[in-house]
Amino acid sequence: MKTLLPTSTAGSLPKPGWLAEPEKLWSAWKMEGEALHKAKQDALCLILHEQQQAGIDIVSDGEQTRQHFVTTFIEHLNGVDFAQRKTVKIRDRYEASVPTVFGAVSRPKSVFVEQARFLRQQTQNPIKWALPGPLTMIDTLYDGYYKSREKLAFEFAEILNQEARELAAAGVDIIQFDEPAFNVFFDEVNDWGIAALEQAMQGLTCETAVHICYGYGIKANTDWKSTLGNEWRQYEAIFPKLQQSSVDLISLECHNSKVPIELIELIRGKKVMVGAIDVANSSIETPEEVAETLRKALKYVDAENLYPCTNCGMAPLSRDIARGKLKALTKGAEIVRNELAR
Ligand SMILES: [Zn+2]
Repeated sequence: MKTLLPTSTAGSLPKPGWLAEPEKLWSAWKMEGEALHKAKQDALCLILHEQQQAGIDIVSDGEQTRQHFVTTFIEHLNGVDFAQRKTVKIRDRYEASVPTVFGAVSRPKSVFVEQARFLRQQTQNPIKWALPGPLTMIDTLYDGYYKSREKLAFEFAEILNQEARELAAAGVDIIQFDEPAFNVFFDEVNDWGIAALEQAMQGLTCETAVHICYGYGIKANTDWKSTLGNEWRQYEAIFPKLQQSSVDLISLECHNSKVPIELIELIRGKKVMVGAIDVANSSIETPEEVAETLRKALKYVDAENLYPCTNCGMAPLSRDIARGKLKALTKGAEIVRNELAR
C-alpha cells in the first residue's frame, strides 16, 4: 500500500432504511428471496460509494450483506439448528437467545464469496472482508454436541479457513476475524484461542487481521464498560501472545476508551488499526480529535504500521452520523499524514 496511514472501518456500517430497519442490531430484512439478494447488492454499492466519498482507503461491504456479524455466517453451516434456541450468557455479560449445535458442523458451500467477488468488481481500492473468529462463534451458540468449547472452536477454524481461502482467491486483500470474545476469556485465548485463530488463517495468500474491541454502543456493553474501572487493561493479557502470532494486523479500540494507549507497545511490529472514532456515542469527532488519538498511538506504533480506523462497527448509528464520522477519520488522518511528511 502506497498511502501512509491508510484509513478503514472496523466493520459494519448503517444499512439504508429500505433494506432493514435502521439504527438497530439484528434488524430484520424488509424483503426476501431474489429481491433481497438484489437489494443487498444495491446497498453494498451505496455504502461503497459513501466510503469512497469520505476518502476511506481500504473499503468493505459495511456488512450490508448480513444481519449480524456472527449469526449470518453460522446460518449457512450444517450442524446448527436455528429453530432450537437456548438462552445463554454471551461474552460472560448478557443473556441472548442463540441457536444450538446438534451435530457435526460443516460448510456445504461458500457463504460470502459471491458478494466479495461483486465488491471486488466495483472498486480498485484494497478491500477488507470480515468473518467472525472461532472463539466469538462458539460464544454465540449453545453447544449440545461437542460439549467442548475448544473442540468446537477448532472445527469452526477449519470451516473459516475454507471460506477465507476462497475470499482471498476472489480478490480480498485483508481478511479480518472479529474476536470481541478475546477481551473476555483470557485463559482460553492464551491456551487455544490464538491457535484456533491461526488455524483459520493458515495458508492464506492475503493479509490477515483480528479485531478486538469493547463492542457496539449497545446498553449491555456500555453497562459492562462502566464496571471495568478507570483503566481497561484487558488487552495486556493477550497482546504478548498475539505479538508472537502470525496475524498481520490488529484492530483495536482506542478513542474515548480507557485503554491505556501504551499497551500498544506490546504488539510492536504488528500493523495496528487504531480506533480513532468512538462508535458508542452520536457526537461526531473533530478531525483534530482524531489526529490527537493517532499522535498518541504513534509513540507506540511505527508510522508505516499505523492504520487509522473506527473502534468497532457503526451499524446502530444513523447514516448521517456514520458519514460524518468517516469524514472526520479521513481528515484527521490527513492532518497527521501532513505532519509526518514535514
Ligand atoms: Zn468490534
